[in-house]
Amino acid sequence: MARLQIRAAKPKLRQSRQARVVWGDAAVLVGGQAPVSVQSMTNTDTVDVIGTAVQIKELASAGSAMVRLTVNTPEAAQAVPRIREQLDRMGIHVPLIGDFHYNGHRLLTEFPACAQALSKYRINPGNVGKGDKHDRQFGLMIEAAMRWNKPVRIGVNWGSLDQELLVGLMDRNNRRARPWGVKPLMYEALIASALGSASLASHMGMNRDQIILSCKVSGVQDLVSVYRELARRCDYPLHLGLTEAGMGAKGVVASAAAISILLQEGIGDTIRVSLTPQPGESRTQEVVVACEILQALELRSFVPSVTACPGCGRTTSTTFQELTQQVDDFLRGQMPHWRDKYPGVERLKVAVMGCIVNGPGESKHADIGISLPGTGEAPVAPVYIDGEKSVTLRGPGIAQDFQKIVQDYVHHRFGRSDAQAFKPMNQ
Ligand code: SF4
Repeated sequence: MARLQIRAAKPKLRQSRQARVVWGDAAVLVGGQAPVSVQSMTNTDTVDVIGTAVQIKELASAGSAMVRLTVNTPEAAQAVPRIREQLDRMGIHVPLIGDFHYNGHRLLTEFPACAQALSKYRINPGNVGKGDKHDRQFGLMIEAAMRWNKPVRIGVNWGSLDQELLVGLMDRNNRRARPWGVKPLMYEALIASALGSASLASHMGMNRDQIILSCKVSGVQDLVSVYRELARRCDYPLHLGLTEAGMGAKGVVASAAAISILLQEGIGDTIRVSLTPQPGESRTQEVVVACEILQALELRSFVPSVTACPGCGRTTSTTFQELTQQVDDFLRGQMPHWRDKYPGVERLKVAVMGCIVNGPGESKHADIGISLPGTGEAPVAPVYIDGEKSVTLRGPGIAQDFQKIVQDYVHHRFGRSDAQAFKPMNQ
């Protein structure tokens, strides 16, 4: 009897154009066959040059390939080139994206240094002006983009949809023999706004390879519906994200659900996770979550991954949770130094397991793993390296000893081109 072969799941490929978002020698490729990139947005007052530059540095260090900032006033527009200079002085060459609403046509025209310092402009067609002002003001922003050779993201948002376009679609819908429902009509309005604006920009002379589109909504199923159709109708690179995702677990889960479904279908070339930070929480959390989504889907690797079991009645002490946290913090903390020194280290897999039930097995699947003693087990922790049992740790210094083994492993495996199989010194 023929045996079924189960194929490994992998994301589909969507053929799209490719845009380049450039600052100096740094270029982020968006679309085509380029890896999906992470974006983020500052929440500082843009006028605060140092505060904004510091936050951009943090976001870039966490893995954000491009950072967007609000440009809403003449003062903010004047601050943008100073932020750019400050970042360049700090050696942070991450491309900056200007987020414009209502007055972008004036700011980009009256503040050429701002227009030049930005690497991409985000234009919301629902907020560029009403009536006969709409196309003229939109055109002024496109002219600025062409003058300075910058790509644009035409970013439609469900909360600021072009109302005149929506009313026109509703009128036409009312004349249909079988009118569409509210949701399909809203989806159509979002997509028509994005594609109509892209068409207008290209008629004005903008290179189609300089246009990125997004149609953001706040519901998971709505986002999936809109992007499937948008991807079917165009070959522009797509920026993907759930708008106003919310706070904490809700925001993380909703964003991950929506973005993952679409990325698996090959839809999405850059992503942003629009989390509301918890009080006191770092803005970088949205970048951490976005990187984790790409890493979980095996699309990108940013930091070594830590596989850990959830713990259960066999782990009645907090040792296991503390060690997992320490290892995770240690690996993330080392990455800014390791990234250049140890190429490929971001693909390292570490396992921290709570007891003998799955501990040895899961540890063997990782590059390096430790199986801690569960309640009632002998107080020893075997370490597995490249699938083989290596050393057994015991005593109060298990965390430090394991950290040292990980550090040495990384050095031996990723630090030299002639890397040998690693054996810990105390074996
Ligand atoms: S590995 Fe052990 S401690 Fe962890 S969840 Fe499984 S049984 Fe519980």
